[in-house]
Amino acid sequence: MKYEKSGEGYCLGIESTADDFSVGIADFEGKILANVISAYIPPEGGIHPREAARHHAEVASKVLEEAFKKAGIKPKNLSVIAFAQGPGLGPCLRTGATVARALASYLGVPLVGVNHCVAHIEIGKLKTGAKDPVTLYVSGGNTIVAAFDSGRYRVFGETLDIALGNCLDVFAREAGLRQKAGAPLGAIVEKLALKGEKFIQLPYTVKGMDISFSGLLTATISLLKKGEYSLEDLCYSLQETAFSMVTEVTERALAHTEKKEVLLTGGVAANKRLQEMVKSIAEEHDAVFCVVPSEFAVDNGAMVAWTGVLAFTHGLVTPVDKSFVRLKWRLDEVEVPWVK
Ligand code: AMP
Ligand code: MG
Repeated sequence: MKYEKSGEGYCLGIESTADDFSVGIADFEGKILANVISAYIPPEGGIHPREAARHHAEVASKVLEEAFKKAGIKPKNLSVIAFAQGPGLGPCLRTGATVARALASYLGVPLVGVNHCVAHIEIGKLKTGAKDPVTLYVSGGNTIVAAFDSGRYRVFGETLDIALGNCLDVFAREAGLRQKAGAPLGAIVEKLALKGEKFIQLPYTVKGMDISFSGLLTATISLLKKGEYSLEDLCYSLQETAFSMVTEVTERALAHTEKKEVLLTGGVAANKRLQEMVKSIAEEHDAVFCVVPSEFAVDNGAMVAWTGVLAFTHGLVTPVDKSFVRLKWRLDEVEVPWVK
């Protein structure tokens, strides 16, 4: 089927699971026409869900308008509205869901609730051409090693406590570093780590296929407070230790599944050192290493729009009375009939 600007074949996707409010527009063939992201930067400390939700409500109409302008289409050209239904922070999710429901009912088009973790994998596949990868998905809120098997993305390993991005962010804040527009805390840690020279032994916790970062974080913060080591050495050692942990689990999943591709996705995927480590294990197992481009690595509306297309074209829609947000919606609960 060919979808031109006939009013058919455009999906608008809304992402609002945590600190980012984003609107993406995709056509049914996987062309991304717009991907506008507005990040909430807390004045101090971590993300307060209600504060982030207020930001989302404030910027929603501006972000929508910009997305339509970028895409060169009108609201009446849309055939489906997708939104990230979970997992995420309640107030943030509800804000995005409200915008999505309002748009869908006003335009009289179907609504599709999309799983945020599935969306990270699908945009990674779309943008890199990966077909059936082992995925390492690492972000501010999630750390998951997954691969497709029998109708779903199965979780092979995951964090038992905090996410990798959160571990880097909390350490950075303890060190007095401040997030700026275009410079997430993880990227600031990455820069400092490049100047690190001395590797400091830190707790390395892999339990079976699962990972724990909280002991590592506590130990690194306590060394920081003692003031014996430079911040650069601490950033370097924290990265080396945390990244080795996720790489180890990814490698075991790859060896077990014998898949031929490894996909790195999520906000932390932008880190060059992590890319290097994951690439090295992919090569050792004769698998192709794929990393999502950074615009699509962070939370973004385009991934929701594209996953909305996949779901909608496989007959999945979410009636408004079933569109309540799902704060703890796991990746491995979702049927993905478009993957064979
Ligand atoms: P997301 O949750 O997908 O929006 O991604 C945000 C997370 O990615 C935050 O924890 C950031 O600190 C982290 N992040 C972004 N860029 C980098 C980088 N270059 N290195 C490490 N972490 C990063
Ligand atoms: Mg985010």
